[in-house]
Amino acid sequence: MFILFGTRGLKHAVNDSPAIPNACPNCSNGNLVHKLYRRWFTLFFIPVIPLDVIDRFYECDKCSSAYNESVKEVLERSQEEIDNAEKEAKATYAKALIASMTHMSTIDNHLDEAEEREINDAIAQFPELSADLVGIYEHVKLNGNKDNQVFNLLNEARNSLSQEALVNLLAQAAVILLADGNIEKEEEALMKEYLIACGLPKDLYPTLIGKLKAKDIKEIGAEQLN
Ligand SMILES: [Zn+2]
Repeated sequence: MFILFGTRGLKHAVNDSPAIPNACPNCSNGNLVHKLYRRWFTLFFIPVIPLDVIDRFYECDKCSSAYNESVKEVLERSQEEIDNAEKEAKATYAKALIASMTHMSTIDNHLDEAEEREINDAIAQFPELSADLVGIYEHVKLNGNKDNQVFNLLNEARNSLSQEALVNLLAQAAVILLADGNIEKEEEALMKEYLIACGLPKDLYPTLIGKLKAKDIKEIGAEQLN
């Protein structure tokens, strides 16, 4: 009888290294499992003695795509970039919204209770920004657009937000138009100026109001994109 010996490679999960959840860049929802490829000394094809580690990598548990170990760092970095961009976009949106709502409310030199309630509701949607937003509210309430703050904030929004987001922003601000029951001429004119400041056609105004009355803000954005 003769003894068959040799070597073979086997894949193993790396101990104490948690999978990266839902991170597979290929199938988007697979978990990336940390694996290593180790050579074994075999006797009759059975692994008996572990030899060297040949490779370490991440493998998707859904589509089996394999990635270099550096994928972990790359994914974390890009997630951080995404989080920062989201934070910035949210702040840009919220500031322009509160500035235009406040400005719109004071255009008739009178900020009534219903308008104030709408503005407070809007500020409450962004609790992490409330100090900044209350500051903008107080400032615009006192100064209107004297220092061009309202239009500067709308311009910032125009430069960094999508058209769909801008339409939603103005539709949300337009709540003020209806807060006291009737839309005054200067309110309508101002909303058209806001549309232009955001790079949107002022003809969008009736659509904005119509949809707002139907409380269908999301749909305005979708329609504008088509
Ligand atoms: Zn995958």
